[in-house]
Amino acid sequence: MENSNHFGKVYLIGAGPGDPGLLTVRGKSILEKADVVVYDRLVSPGVLSLCNPKAKMVDVGKMPTHHKVKQSEINKLLVKFAVEMPGATVARLKGGDPFVFGRGGEEALELVDAGVEFEVVPGVTSAIAVPAYAGIPVSHRGIATSFHIITGHEKAEAGDSLSLDFENLAKSQGTLIFLMGIANMDFIARRLIECGKDPKTPLAFIEKGTTPNQRTVMATLETAGETIVRENVTAPAITIMGGVVELGKTLAWKKNLPLSGKRLVVTRAAKQSSGITARLTALGAEVIETPMIETRNVLPYCHAELPSCIANSYEYDTAELADLADFEDLKDFDILAFTSTNGVESFFEQLFTAEYDVRELAGKKIASVGKITEKKLLEYGIRCDYVPKDHTGEGLGLLLREVVDDESRILLLQGNLADDTLLKLLPKATRWIVYETLPIAELPDWKREAIASADAVVFASSSAVENFAQISSLSSFVSRLSFCIGRMTEASAKKHGFETVTSDETTMDSLVKKIVEYYTMGENA
Ligand code: SAH
Repeated sequence: MENSNHFGKVYLIGAGPGDPGLLTVRGKSILEKADVVVYDRLVSPGVLSLCNPKAKMVDVGKMPTHHKVKQSEINKLLVKFAVEMPGATVARLKGGDPFVFGRGGEEALELVDAGVEFEVVPGVTSAIAVPAYAGIPVSHRGIATSFHIITGHEKAEAGDSLSLDFENLAKSQGTLIFLMGIANMDFIARRLIECGKDPKTPLAFIEKGTTPNQRTVMATLETAGETIVRENVTAPAITIMGGVVELGKTLAWKKNLPLSGKRLVVTRAAKQSSGITARLTALGAEVIETPMIETRNVLPYCHAELPSCIANSYEYDTAELADLADFEDLKDFDILAFTSTNGVESFFEQLFTAEYDVRELAGKKIASVGKITEKKLLEYGIRCDYVPKDHTGEGLGLLLREVVDDESRILLLQGNLADDTLLKLLPKATRWIVYETLPIAELPDWKREAIASADAVVFASSSAVENFAQISSLSSFVSRLSFCIGRMTEASAKKHGFETVTSDETTMDSLVKKIVEYYTMGENA
């Protein structure tokens, strides 16, 4: 999608009502390559997490209590990004649909004025999707032949009353859907009754629709105001009125799941976390994936005999202290041993970048620590000669000791944090470091905010706890509750002042079971 214009291009994108699954395919593909994302308060963390991790993230919709960026400033900001960043993709991400009470039209007009190219990516509007998630069709044969989407927010120029045409709204047989109307609903309902609408008209408030915190509260026109107070209905919520609301009693399809309404932070590395994320999400939780570490492919360097307190500390750049390896030296080895998929990927990436190819491995025996690494090697057309039964470093070391003779020259291809198990079992082996694991230095604002209000954090290793504790901005994480895998992880979490709930076994299955138990049993339910 080349942009011939000398400016960047702005995309007005609808993020949908909350459930990231309701973002359009077009919207997602633009967000994945966006250079800047200017987003509103209503955009859910699940959608923000789909954005290009390198994008500049600009929050223009602070919480209602904070200063909110004025619309005129947002318009100027979009123009500024487009003008200052030729060729850039500027995503303007809004809740629901950008042209449904989203002020997308105003932004587009400003872009036209400034000569900035733009595209509108419609979104799934909350006005229709939120009722749908509550089992309420906005139109239904024999019940409603039209539906009206109304802002409950507009104030008349003079005075404080709403500038809505209540007479006409009250006469309409169609479904009435109010956005932004909770604060004014008592007034709106009274005016509609005054203008002749049946006080018994069924009505539903749907709060945080399509998110794990969705809630439907039923009422009638005459009980609207008192119901909002009694049930403490809060924004964002839509109000839907009319006969179709009754259908929601039969058609409400969204199940209340064991982890509904829980926001959990998963601290595993992105590649590893999708399994647990999918499981927790399927159980109803909102998951904020926050890997504490990232892996970086590096040019292989020779493992230096550094004290482990230095080699395993993030404070030191071990690569700088060590010698770079030379792919030419591969010819000196008879056996290459891989201990992780990261190692495989990085080794080949660097090999190919240096303009070698797999023929450098011709005639060598290949060992892998386990089945997953073995499968990864197969992707590069390499079949393994040795894979230990127990899939551990120790198993691999013992196996190699058994099958190779003393003269064999072994090259271990590992990450910077690999322990010495293999080297101790194979003291003559050489170790190259082919990738590094580094802690995440900082988190984007939206993620910090999402974490601050999370119910709990999931830790699968002590290092994850250490890193989480070190990201100082996370001291705002209020709950302090952690779900841990393994006693070591638990001990680290305790040390840093977390409350801990630890899985019985050191598996993800066991941990997920424990989390569900915690939230569904006894006093915590
Ligand atoms: N452009 C948006 C609407 C913006 S106005 C759209 O098309 O959906 C903001 C109002 O939308 C909120 O006050 C609320 O009434 C409604 N809204 C947005 N998301 C919602 C959600 N997940 N649940 C309930 N109401 C929502």
